[in-house]
Formats: sequence, structure tokens, C-alpha cells
Amino acid sequence: MNILVTGGAGFIGSALCRYLVANPRNRVINLDKLTYAGNLASLRQIENFPNYRFVRADICDEAAVAGVLHSENIGRIMHLAAETHVDRSIDGPEAFIETNVLGTFRLLQTALQYWRELPEPAAEVFRFQHVSTDEVFGDLPFDDSAFNEATPYAPSSPYSASKAASDHLVRAWHHTFGLPVVLTNCSNNYGPFHFPEKLVPLVILNALDERPLPVYGTGANVRDWLYVDDHARALDLVAAQGAVGESYNIGGSSERTNLRVVETICDTLDRKRPRRNRKSYRDLITFVTDRPGHDRRYAMDTSKIEREFGWRPRESFETGLSRTIDWYLENDWWWRPIREGSYRGERLGSSVAA
Ligand code: NAD
Repeated sequence: MNILVTGGAGFIGSALCRYLVANPRNRVINLDKLTYAGNLASLRQIENFPNYRFVRADICDEAAVAGVLHSENIGRIMHLAAETHVDRSIDGPEAFIETNVLGTFRLLQTALQYWRELPEPAAEVFRFQHVSTDEVFGDLPFDDSAFNEATPYAPSSPYSASKAASDHLVRAWHHTFGLPVVLTNCSNNYGPFHFPEKLVPLVILNALDERPLPVYGTGANVRDWLYVDDHARALDLVAAQGAVGESYNIGGSSERTNLRVVETICDTLDRKRPRRNRKSYRDLITFVTDRPGHDRRYAMDTSKIEREFGWRPRESFETGLSRTIDWYLENDWWWRPIREGSYRGERLGSSVAA
């Protein structure tokens, strides 16, 4: 199977590329524009694999994408390229509309044209997989409710609105033009190679630097957390076995308040890398003004993917977090240039977004 991964130099995309190339029957073409969030260093361990290739291109560039689809004889598109940081979407929404909405539209048009020209049986097995977020469903109360695949969309932020728009476009290209699509909506991911503007790496690295650990509001907002390799495995399963036109929720069944996430990171670091002054890292927690429009709670009902494919996360939040912290402690070659470059983690608060 020749697979085009868009956004493969990002956090989840790079984990997905690493996962897919481990299967020698896959050939993976990673198409990425390399925005601030794209980092080829995340792909160092696979960059010389014979079944991996990187192409620098923008999903908005129809000619470039069409060229790759034809020259690489692509049988599956896994679409992850996006602007993803909620705080950035509040400061400057335009890039989110450009890539997430217009970019997805252009990619759909290019994919449709390509699919229509495919001979059978290649057209029959071709899939366009759209990777999306639980944030499209909006805000849940603090109870035991959860989003399922039929939950109506009610996005709150420019980021989630742009992802909701892209989900609608993907469904429309299926219903109207017959493009064989599958969709997934996933909760918050964490793991290695996560850009340090997001909550988990931001807190780990700020703690190691003895800097404040910013928490929005009172830290009571609840998110569900999934280890990134579990997401990659679920994406491959859905792409291979998901029913055309269907969407699947993916989640970790690990709801935590933001404050608890930060405290768990502090406690784990206290054990693994105690501070010189022997105080707990918890002393560095600093509550900051809440994000506007901050959704209270997200939670995923993942019974469909569990029932249909037997998928379950392999990592609990505690084991996944421990692995993640070990990775950041051992891999400063990856994150130090980012922290010492344009991004230092001074301005942004504790994002809990995708
Ligand atoms: P990321 O920000 O780490 O990476 C995004 C990648 O897309 C980067 O490599 C960037 O260079 C690339 N990109 C951006 N604009 C592009 C364009 N116009 N053309 C080509 N490439 C472009 O994002 P992530 O956290 O890895 O998320 C990947 C996908 O998964 C996104 O679609 C996101 O909405 C979705 N998602 C993320 C999470 C999460 O917790 N991170 C959860 C659910 C869903």
C-alpha cells in the first residue's frame, strides 16, 4: 500500500509515519509544508528507510499534491496537516481557515480528480482518511456524559470551528461525489516529539528549567488523554477496516483535570529528576487568566472502535506519561533547539488543545 500522510512532520503525523514504515508492505510518502510545527528531526530514525520519502509541499498546492498522487501511485491518503494550537487560533485565526478549511477543500478536490481516474480495483480500495479532534463536539458538563459519533457539532474555538468545517467538507465530498472517506475524531494526544507549546511537554520542560508551570483558571477543565502511538495504531486500523463514510471516535478513557495532569507530571519528575532544592515541582504551578471560550470538559465514548476492531489503548495515562517524561529527559537534542530558538514557552499558557 502506497500511503500519503499529510502533516507527517508534526507530532501525530511523525508518530504515524514511524508506525506505518515498520510494516515493509507499506510505502509512506510524507507531504508537509514544514510550518513552525513541522520538524524533520522527528523523523530522523526513519529518514533513510527505503519505504519512506519526504516531500515538502503545501496541501493548498493542487498541482504539487496531484503530482505526488500520480507519481507515487497512492492508494490511501491520511490527512493530518493542520494548524492545531488553540491559543494561536485565538491570536490569528486566518492560518487556520487557510490550511484547515481551504487546504482540506483543495486536497479533497485533488483527491477526487485522482480517484476518478483510477482504474478498478485501485479505485475500489482507495481511501481518504480525515484525522480530526473531539473539540468539534464542543463543551460537556462535569458529569458522566461523553461524545459519541452521533453527537451534534458545536465547536467553540476558531481551531475547533475550522476542524468542524473540514469534517463537514469531507462528509460532503463522500455524499455528493462518492469519494471513499473515513473520519476519526480523537481526544488529546501526548507522547514523544510533542511541540513544547502544548501542555504536557510545556510543563515538563518548564519544570526542568525551573520556570513557572502555567495553568489556566483554576485548572478544573477536563480532557481525555491518549498516548500518541495508540492513536497511530487506531488510525491504521480505521483506514484499513473502517466502513466508507463512517466516523470513529478514538480516546484514552483517561479523563483528567488540567491541574491533575500538571500535578502528576510534577510528582513523576520529583521521583525521576528531583530538584536541587529538594522541593516539589508543584511549587512552580502558577494559575493564569483563563483562555476565552475555554470548554469545560471533553470525553469520548469509544465503544464503536472497540466493538468493531477490538482496539483499546495499550498505555494507561500513568504509564504513557512516565514514558513521555523519560523521553524528554533523554532527548534534549530534539527539544533544546526548539526551546532555545524562536519558541521559549514564555508567552503561551497551558494549552490543552490538540
Ligand atoms: P502538529 O501541529 O504537531 O503538526 C501539524 C503538521 O502539519 C506540521 O508538520 C505542519 O508543518 C503541517 N502543516 C501545516 N499546514 C500545512 C499545509 N498547509 N500543508 C502541508 N502541511 C502543513 O499537529 P498534530 O498535533 O500532530 O495534529 C495532527 C492532526 O491531528 C491535526 O489535523 C489535528 O487537528 C489532529 N488532532 C490532534 C490531536 C492532538 O492532541 N494533537 C488530537 C486530535 C486530533
